[in-house]
Amino acid sequence: MKNKIGENIDVGICQKCGLPKEICVCKDIVRENQNIIICTEKRKYQKTVTIISELNMEKSDLLNIARFLKIHLACGGGIHGSSITLQGNHLNKIEDLLVLKGFDSDKIRINNNGGIKIE
Ligand SMILES: [Zn+2]
Repeated sequence: MKNKIGENIDVGICQKCGLPKEICVCKDIVRENQNIIICTEKRKYQKTVTIISELNMEKSDLLNIARFLKIHLACGGGIHGSSITLQGNHLNKIEDLLVLKGFDSDKIRINNNGGIKIE
């Protein structure tokens, strides 16, 4: 089962609040309280990647967010531990997309230093 933005919806009861998962907001609350650090890094062959780190959430949720970002930014990427890595520099768009997914923009910190040039 999928919702309107293409996320898989777990059918069942939430372990935390006991509500059906479709109406449970536990995951949203987790997202609102997440401190996120976004930065870019130059990788081999001078390719820039955008890294969203310290996402302390379930792997399935992380995968959902990674997929959402990859579709909207039309880029490749993956998850590594508690971080999402996206190919390319997406610092200008990524905050809006994360807010759309329920993250609090006040808790998103974009770390745009380290001598990394923005394209
Ligand atoms: Zn719940």
